[in-house]
Amino acid sequence: MSQRLLLHACCGPCSTSCVERLRAEGIEPVLFYANDNLASREEYDRRLGALRMFAEAEGVEVRAKPYDHDAWREAVRGMEAEPEGGRRCSACFRHSLAAAAAEAGRDGFDGFSTTLTVSPHKRTAQVFEAGHAVETPAAPFREHDFKKRGGFLRSVVLAARYGLYRQSFCGCEHSLRASEDRRGQAVVELTIALFCILLLVGGLLQLVILAHSDTETMAEATARASEAAATGGSFAESFSPVRDWRPGRDGMILTRDDREVGGSLAGPRQDIASRTAPDGDWSALDAADRTDIRSFAENGASAAFGFVHAHAEQEVEVLPFCRALFGLREARTGNDVWMVKVGDLY
Ligand code: SF4
Repeated sequence: MSQRLLLHACCGPCSTSCVERLRAEGIEPVLFYANDNLASREEYDRRLGALRMFAEAEGVEVRAKPYDHDAWREAVRGMEAEPEGGRRCSACFRHSLAAAAAEAGRDGFDGFSTTLTVSPHKRTAQVFEAGHAVETPAAPFREHDFKKRGGFLRSVVLAARYGLYRQSFCGCEHSLRASEDRRGQAVVELTIALFCILLLVGGLLQLVILAHSDTETMAEATARASEAAATGGSFAESFSPVRDWRPGRDGMILTRDDREVGGSLAGPRQDIASRTAPDGDWSALDAADRTDIRSFAENGASAAFGFVHAHAEQEVEVLPFCRALFGLREARTGNDVWMVKVGDLY
């Protein structure tokens, strides 16, 4: 004859995989709904409704202890501020399981157990300790660790299959408050995370826009310099082409100590210098490194021949998101191009 087990049931979802497991072991349970811990009558009825729905579908008997939250409050008095999993929960388990032990003894069951062990939020050892604390010779507590072998995951699958209401907090008003706090904290964290992602994406987008504008101003400055080189006339009319170079003391041509053969760069040099630095003001080249034009003008070097200068800039709209961050409504990108020109080649 199969064992008669009274199974304390905390709710419908948790009962699903426990009943399945017990039946697979040849045990036919009777479900005993004893949950004075639930924060309100409404929650008590809601969970009982889900349990009945499952039990009816599976042909399992359900018994329900009348709701008495005052009795539970008395059982956990002085432990209200305990964290979940602490002394209050031990007292809570004992309160529910004592009702199950009394029912099992009264009706001659072989023992009683509980679905509480299926939850990953509850320590099996703590539940077993509470069960043994309230067992009697007529109603021994039977240890069943339902979370083993994927019991909780199975209960999630089965509860979804039966369409059962699944609560988001353990049960009492203290766990409800903690759950709401956690939810509030999660909302704050999610908001901060979304803000950071938005900031990152906005910053990257702004960088792309600036890079694009920079490329455009560079292309525009280059085009302007080319046009100026092509149309702005050549060097001074006195220019007479250089046919060759005489290397200086370093023995290499196209260096500073070269001498031009067959012509003279004096005219072009003067022309270039006056165009590049009107009135001898070279400040425009202060930021231009890697150019030899200054030494060309100041030292008479012949390695550089001439430069045409062009500048282009653009206003770039700062994205609304970055405006607040940098306090800018618009930014400016710009590029300078100095193009080398030799005769009509540039
Ligand atoms: S958190 Fe859960 S187990 Fe702990 S006292 Fe509340 S209802 Fe009981």
